Amino acid sequence: MRKKIIAGNWKMYKNPAEALALVAGLKKEIGAQSAVEVVVCPPFVDLAAAVQAAAGSTIALGAQNLFWETEGAFTGEISGAMIKASGATYVIIGHSERRQYFGETNATVNKRLKAALACGLNPIVCVGENLAEREAGKTFDVVKDHVTGSLAGLTKEDMKTVVIAYEPVWAIGTGKTATSAQAQEVHKFIRDLLAKLFDQATAEATRLQYGGSVKPENTAELTAQPDIDGALVGGASLKVDSFSAIIRNTK
Ligand code: PEP
Repeated sequence: MRKKIIAGNWKMYKNPAEALALVAGLKKEIGAQSAVEVVVCPPFVDLAAAVQAAAGSTIALGAQNLFWETEGAFTGEISGAMIKASGATYVIIGHSERRQYFGETNATVNKRLKAALACGLNPIVCVGENLAEREAGKTFDVVKDHVTGSLAGLTKEDMKTVVIAYEPVWAIGTGKTATSAQAQEVHKFIRDLLAKLFDQATAEATRLQYGGSVKPENTAELTAQPDIDGALVGGASLKVDSFSAIIRNTK
């Protein structure tokens, strides 16, 4: 049985004081619930404050990226071990904004993913087509390429902690949500692909999140789909009310 997982991607919003207040608010609303796994991914500089604020609750913390080297002269980068030491347990890898603005490719996603696994962080790997690709009928080709390239060289054992977030780029921050049928179709495709790449048991155990304009009103329908195991939430994760409503509405 796959436990549903709702993760908030705060992107480049909230300073440490604001992070503390937001996590404290979430803790009040949903802190002790255990039906759904809740992860909050603030900017790096907020992690310490957020970990402190989440103490005593079931809220887990995650980072939004990591570098693949363990340490060294890599100005501006953060290693998985540093993230782990901050108390975070998750890391988002290959978000479409990183693919779009920071030159992220399947090959770099794969290196980051292996680094995350090596230091015991739980990765949330993002995949998904953009609008031009969807309109050209290439959704499944792009998703297959992202999944296959990102997970290259991983073992079934490695897959035990990997979460995959299907995020159609045209639905991120646009208010345009994929319909539950559109999302389910791609999630099923990813699960079938995992069965081919690994095996049926791995495919059935891997959690697949949907991301793209998830809000309280569409959460129940999306998360009720058989292959949708939760959501990666951007904008609506920045407020206690909307994020806690999404968690409560998760089916
Ligand atoms: C995201 O950033 O991963 C995301 C899905 O954003 P939004 O929910 O704002 O569309």
